Amino acid sequence: MFRTTYRQASRNLKSLKHGVGWRRTAHYFLWPLLAALLCGVGTNSGHSGSGSVRRSLKVTTRDEGGITHFVVQNLEAADVTATFDLRLSNLKGSTNFPYTTTFRGGETVDAFTLSPVRADAVWHYTYSDDFTVGNNTAVPDGSYIYTLPYAPGTACRVTQGYHGRFSHTGADEYAIDWQMASGTPVYAARGGVVVGVKSDSDVGGPDRKYESSANYILIQHTDGTIGIYAHLMKGGSKVKVWDKVEAGQWIGLSGDTGFTSGPHLHFSVFMAKSGRERLSVPVKFKTADNAALTVMAGESYQAAPIAVQQANVGKGLTGMGGGSHITR
Ligand SMILES: [Zn+2]
Repeated sequence: MFRTTYRQASRNLKSLKHGVGWRRTAHYFLWPLLAALLCGVGTNSGHSGSGSVRRSLKVTTRDEGGITHFVVQNLEAADVTATFDLRLSNLKGSTNFPYTTTFRGGETVDAFTLSPVRADAVWHYTYSDDFTVGNNTAVPDGSYIYTLPYAPGTACRVTQGYHGRFSHTGADEYAIDWQMASGTPVYAARGGVVVGVKSDSDVGGPDRKYESSANYILIQHTDGTIGIYAHLMKGGSKVKVWDKVEAGQWIGLSGDTGFTSGPHLHFSVFMAKSGRERLSVPVKFKTADNAALTVMAGESYQAAPIAVQQANVGKGLTGMGGGSHITR
């Protein structure tokens, strides 16, 4: 996540003929840091290092009749949750602070306003924000059964499951690692809209210095949660931002980029808790042998053959297709 702090002192004070005193007329343009800093999925584990956000939110202000409007533009395709903290002097906010809210992908909105309490006195504020990819109002659909993220009929072993001691703690508590040779086709575990792709990294290893070097694909689901597929190989994305994908669609190639101890696919479903924190969500998978199970470290699971997945669609076991769409 990112924190940007602005300290605004009084400036551009101007005397008004008919006013009762002083009024501020300055416009402030507040630009969050654009640098690529580590955030998100890898925040607590550092393992996936997959949530690097390069631009996310643009925050500007607009003065209208003495009222300061904070305008937020979400530059991501993904929902982004922000927490604003303001310290106010002779100002009243349209909301209480700290204020946490989610901005939908691509939208521009007036987030809140500040109004002078006393028009005849100087006012002042200190502003900071934190933001992270994810929706804090998402309600995970616990009835949705995910498709294993590899080719129908093939099997992969789970090397780290829920609560994995190596790195699946904190915001990554419900992440899963599948052992996979680099270049193994990765399939969407659930359909949705591609809201993030990084595929230009060619480095990785068992060192935290690689935390922000993981390639990944983010897919936002209809319930507002986001699935992340991390450590993909360089150029290992077959999809681009805003693409719609279906469960079982071939989306990329696994790899060994980022902070990893060997080639594998890191997968988790997450939402935001605030601009400062993400939550991962436990999910169940259908396999060749089981309609819905929680995968466990040390076990191998075979993805259902296409015919079985299609049959499951007929039984209502999947929400967005069951692996029959692998042509992309
Ligand atoms: Zn992992």
